[in-house]
Amino acid sequence: MVASADALALAGARATGREAARLSAVAAAMRERLWRYEHRPADGLEALELYETAARADPAQACGLRVQRALLGGDIDGDPERVYRELYSIRAAAPRTDCARRVGAMLERLEAFRPLPNVLAELERDARGDAGVELMGSGRPRATVDGAGAVVVPALDRAPSGPTRITAVERYPGEDSARIVVVLTQPALFEVGFIPKQGKLDARLFVDVKGGTYKGQLAFETPGLVKRVRLGQRKDGSRIVLDLAAPVFRKVFYLPEPFRLVIDVSTTPPTEGAAPVRAGQRMVRRVVLDAGHGGHDPGATGPNGLREKDVTLDIAQRAAPLLARELGVSTLMTRDTDEFVSLDARTARANAFKADLFVSIHCNASEDPQATGFMTFVLDDSRDALASEIAARENAASAAAAAELASVMRQFADQASLARSVHFAELLQRSAAASLGFGYVGTADRGVRRAGFYVLAGAHMPAVLFEVSFISDEREETRLNTGDYRQKLADAIVNAVRAYRDGH
Ligand SMILES: [Zn+2]
Repeated sequence: MVASADALALAGARATGREAARLSAVAAAMRERLWRYEHRPADGLEALELYETAARADPAQACGLRVQRALLGGDIDGDPERVYRELYSIRAAAPRTDCARRVGAMLERLEAFRPLPNVLAELERDARGDAGVELMGSGRPRATVDGAGAVVVPALDRAPSGPTRITAVERYPGEDSARIVVVLTQPALFEVGFIPKQGKLDARLFVDVKGGTYKGQLAFETPGLVKRVRLGQRKDGSRIVLDLAAPVFRKVFYLPEPFRLVIDVSTTPPTEGAAPVRAGQRMVRRVVLDAGHGGHDPGATGPNGLREKDVTLDIAQRAAPLLARELGVSTLMTRDTDEFVSLDARTARANAFKADLFVSIHCNASEDPQATGFMTFVLDDSRDALASEIAARENAASAAAAAELASVMRQFADQASLARSVHFAELLQRSAAASLGFGYVGTADRGVRRAGFYVLAGAHMPAVLFEVSFISDEREETRLNTGDYRQKLADAIVNAVRAYRDGH
């Protein structure tokens, strides 16, 4: 039955629209039945992921599928308040439908477990998303996905004014994957092409930037998969050529503010690792711990002067040896000292390291003095205004840019790997709640959220951004300044990795 469910889930991940929803929903129902017979956590969690995958694939059935998900989740956790919260959100997202009326009747039966009004108000705000963020420009980005990977180009709402200058060509080499970032003075259209190896000439991937101009070094030698990056001028723009040591899969997309092309190449097919999560153990050999900010970028600063960059580095430094000692996992820290590392470089390092999980560590900040607690983000399209604001601050760009990035990634993110990120994020929230529950009762679990974080863009592995607490809140700042609190947060990361590896 597990094998059949996996086969259906895989077929669902390859299909689109209603067919994808149908296959995923059948697989989910099979896993749910297995869980109800045998109570193995892996079956239950897999069913939850598959219901969500199905709901996202077909909006017309989303409400009903999410109700099933909520009921199962409540049974797994033995937590009727969770069921209430989820059902409440489902109804708020699709009011005045038949499904919403059924949910209303369920909520009445769960009246005893109704959470406090402020919790419900927040759920309603999130679900409505009416304060949501609009995309920059008029159209949505266009994606082409084929066997060789994906290309996403922007929808320009107006013609570029004057020439588009290439101001930098950043190179992040690796043996099996590499990233090249081309920084431009304004948004531009581009085309991607490939020329196979001919005799002694290496295979080449090229990107033509419409209207692009460039002055500077014309060739850069790099070690590893990309042997060389060359720039040339053509009649209607600039051409960037990557000379390749081996055949590659590519993902070419853009990031706004400043506008830049990201050319990710890898010898591993993009769908690998997208297979449904199997029961039992998951392969976790390498983990990347990404301490947010550093160097000239202090991140957020608390009312008493505590700096985010110092807290995040200390938590990463506490978690890394524990991961090695307790789980035998190799860790890579994107920074191990107080140095500046760009967001693009962090993801590139994680990909080159062939990490199985990526955890970016940050402290939250808000103008709202009431804002407290911990939350975990995944990179996904969202109309959640609060989440977009947080992403904007972490990206050092606008909320509109964060929303645009989320929309770009949505074009080629595959549902299965997104589901894995969400699953790991849920485990991290759960283990943080457990870890802080000893000694820090009442720290608010703000849940898993979705937004456009640059540092997660293009990661080849499940990737989350962990906002450990609000450094802007005086009480949480005081706690973040203690070794004990930081240790508990580091423990939470280690325990979440263990739970994920063990198939929970
Ligand atoms: Zn941060």
